Amino acid sequence: MIEIKNLYKNFGSTAVLKGINLKLKKGEVVAIIGPSGSGKSTLLRCINFLETPDEGEIIIGATAVNARIATKEGIGQLRKSTAMVFQGYNLFKNKTAIENIMEPLVIVKKLPRQEAEAIARGILEQVGLVDKRDNYPSKLSGGQQQRVGIGRALAVEPDIILLDEPTSALDPELVGEVLDVIKSLADKHMTMLIVTHEMNFARDAADRIVFMDDGRIIEEGRPAEFFANPQNSRTVKFLNQVR
Ligand code: ATP
Ligand code: MG
Repeated sequence: MIEIKNLYKNFGSTAVLKGINLKLKKGEVVAIIGPSGSGKSTLLRCINFLETPDEGEIIIGATAVNARIATKEGIGQLRKSTAMVFQGYNLFKNKTAIENIMEPLVIVKKLPRQEAEAIARGILEQVGLVDKRDNYPSKLSGGQQQRVGIGRALAVEPDIILLDEPTSALDPELVGEVLDVIKSLADKHMTMLIVTHEMNFARDAADRIVFMDDGRIIEEGRPAEFFANPQNSRTVKFLNQVR
């Protein structure tokens, strides 16, 4: 189980997260939606302490890290149990598709190369890129690069994958293939927290939708009910703007 408790984050005098509480069950897929600047990316980045929260607690399985008394070990443990997929692909340009996926296995998990390669081959299958294994990123489409990025996140077998607008840098015709891969992970009950502006995808893939505005969770619910019958006026306004 993953729990975010009473999370606060300021940048200077700007309060960006104002007391976020969120729980995810194992295997649950939660989509975060909300206007630009509402704190969605900051929330994801606070979960693995890429940004240090000012207050609050992150609990992933047996690891609980309180922002006020966070230790290096605790933060290290959180980072081991999470993986992040960014908008840009952040691939190593001088490494092939399979080498990019092997990287965290060899460097972080310290697996022997042969073992890492066997795992990476399996992951290439999952993301549909077996035939591109030896391509460098420059010889992959944006969608394929992002699938390698997802593969790299999968490789470390995290407790949760955090995805921040994984398709927003892609040309429209490449969005579908990446969403399909994420959907297939959702079907396999990979725990995921996905910031997205793809409302149809959120409806199809997520178990729950969370709407954030101005540093707070304003409303959440099951996709069908959330989209059909939003309760808060800010949710209604946002949905009218994006639909
Ligand atoms: P978008 O949909 O545009 O990606 P978001 O909901 O992800 O928006 P955040 O990136 O979390 O929003 O930003 C929330 C607020 O925090 C914004 O006002 C932003 O300017 C501010 N902010 C984010 N990162 C920093 C930073 N490193 N330093 C100062 N302010 C920041
Ligand atoms: Mg963002």
